[in-house]
Amino acid sequence: MRLVNADALKTDIEENSITLGGVMAIETACAKALIDVAPTVEAYTEEQVKELVELNKKLSEERHQGKWIIVKQDNEGVHEIECPFCKYSKGSDFSSIITVIFERFPPFCENCGAQMKGGAE
Ligand SMILES: [Zn+2]
Repeated sequence: MRLVNADALKTDIEENSITLGGVMAIETACAKALIDVAPTVEAYTEEQVKELVELNKKLSEERHQGKWIIVKQDNEGVHEIECPFCKYSKGSDFSSIITVIFERFPPFCENCGAQMKGGAE
């Protein structure tokens, strides 16, 4: 995608077009009409970008931080953990497969994005 300044483009076309008897050439009129109906995207102003950066910073600071709750565990290891914030559960019922190795608890909840520090409680 390439973004252009449509207003500046229309001005350039007007300034560089040939007029016949004060009448705009049909090509110029067509070009300006095409610019007017061209697909557009909303551009953010510098002020809006600053607001979005601040909002992202605020949301990052407010993001939950906690530890996984161990739901199911046996001598083999941890089989199921749960996010304390959204109750998202990772793992399954007891089986021979260890779902989570102690040192490798996921650093984030993949459902709500909460940051998990220090493993589990
Ligand atoms: Zn969660």
